[in-house]
Amino acid sequence: MKIALISAEAYPFSKTGGLGDVVGSLFKDFLKKGLDVTLFLPYYRITREKYYDRVEDCGILYEVSIGGISKFGGIRSAKAQLDEDGNLVLTPSKLGNIFFVEHNDFFDREQLYGTNYGEYLDNAERYIFFSRAILEICKILNLRFSVIHCHDWHTALIPLYLKTLYKECSCFEKLKTVLTIHNLGYQGVFPKEKLELTGFGWEMFHIDCLEFYGMINFLKVGILNSDVVTTVSPTYAKEILRPEFGFGLDGVLRKIQDRLIGILNGIDYRIWNPEKDPYIKKPYGLSNLEDKIKNKEDLLQIANLPNYLESPLICFIGRMVSQKGIDLIVEAVPTLIDKEINFLFVGTGENYYETKIKELQHRYPSKVSTFIGFDEALAHKIYAGADAILIPSKYEPCGLTQLIAMRYGAVPICRKTGGLADTVENNITGFLFENYSPDDLVTAVLKFVEIYKNKKLFEKIIYNAMKRDFSWEKLSLKYIELYNGLHQ
Ligand code: ADP
Repeated sequence: MKIALISAEAYPFSKTGGLGDVVGSLFKDFLKKGLDVTLFLPYYRITREKYYDRVEDCGILYEVSIGGISKFGGIRSAKAQLDEDGNLVLTPSKLGNIFFVEHNDFFDREQLYGTNYGEYLDNAERYIFFSRAILEICKILNLRFSVIHCHDWHTALIPLYLKTLYKECSCFEKLKTVLTIHNLGYQGVFPKEKLELTGFGWEMFHIDCLEFYGMINFLKVGILNSDVVTTVSPTYAKEILRPEFGFGLDGVLRKIQDRLIGILNGIDYRIWNPEKDPYIKKPYGLSNLEDKIKNKEDLLQIANLPNYLESPLICFIGRMVSQKGIDLIVEAVPTLIDKEINFLFVGTGENYYETKIKELQHRYPSKVSTFIGFDEALAHKIYAGADAILIPSKYEPCGLTQLIAMRYGAVPICRKTGGLADTVENNITGFLFENYSPDDLVTAVLKFVEIYKNKKLFEKIIYNAMKRDFSWEKLSLKYIELYNGLHQ
């Protein structure tokens, strides 16, 4: 069984959020389990800067026509292996198990998808090129896979390319396709004029194919044309069949629901391990939980809130976008500010939400600290130092934050939706609230504060949370079962 994972990002090569974490961890876990797996990624500037000396130019030039204009691309490759400690080690190789699609105009940019002011205007072109480049590379190098596993809208045209433009190509015989939806809120919707760039004809511009309310929709194409569609938690797999969560695709998903399944994400327990985390002040585990406080002390210093060791420290870390419930936080914090709680908010996102969060700090400088930016090391310190992590999402396909938080004994306070509902047990491993309302959030936080004050009860929750197993080691078996099932 030969598996290809195709994604717009994968940690440690590129990452903006959960997609990168998930694909990177899956790849590593498959390698560990001895699966024959190949990863395809764009060769972004950030990837080149970090890995240029560990990849080899395959010396192949291929052509992709984008709207009648020839675009030539390159390909870099490396052989990825795990060392004794489970670290990913890359060796340059012309025919390795990682391929980076190279096209400087498209991928040699500061960011992956866009700037603070919006998405890059040529994202359709960029990911059409990426998708077709992979199929060209498979043809040239005669790479034959049993399953191509596409992730999110960026790669969702591939199943349709395989049924049309690449139908006659012998290297794709007996191939099955899987598409994973990591977040239905991002579908790759573009003006219909962009159809010309895909290589598909206008006869495909209809409601059972590319058309979506007069536009074209990449994710819809993937949903309709993959052998199996997965999403990242069982609850989210049910929620997206409803108009409230479907972002206009619930009808399409209901149509294919017999081949739609929810597989819960895991986290990499080597990267997220409080006992051996190089980023944190003092490693700790269940046997020396008392050392967690040293990390809280450290985090309070970093956050410039040094005198509040006794008060509960509640943190938010994530993208500052409407999905993550920032507006609930903004409304709830003033109500909670007299309750001897300290808050630390970290993330990047839309200017509007970043500003709202910064305003909280200006209003309550002795209680609220903020950091606008993406900082991997700080993320580790937050999980290790926080008493609780706030995740009041409007919707949450799976969520990794609560899984990491539980691993570090930072109690998650979450809205009961999607993967949050599947992974956090109310009053046992964290706190859940039902309605998307600031009042419900306040109630959940106050419940947490009450428990926090009772050392024994609080430690019991931390203990329960840290004992849960959300490792990929266990959870990736579901994907392997799925791949095997496709070829029976
Ligand atoms: P999403 O994929 O919707 O952004 P997830 O909860 O699935 O949310 O994954 C978020 C991941 O990104 C977690 O690993 C989280 O720690 C990390 N993360 C989010 N924002 C930041 C940030 N500002 N700095 C560092 N890591 C971040």
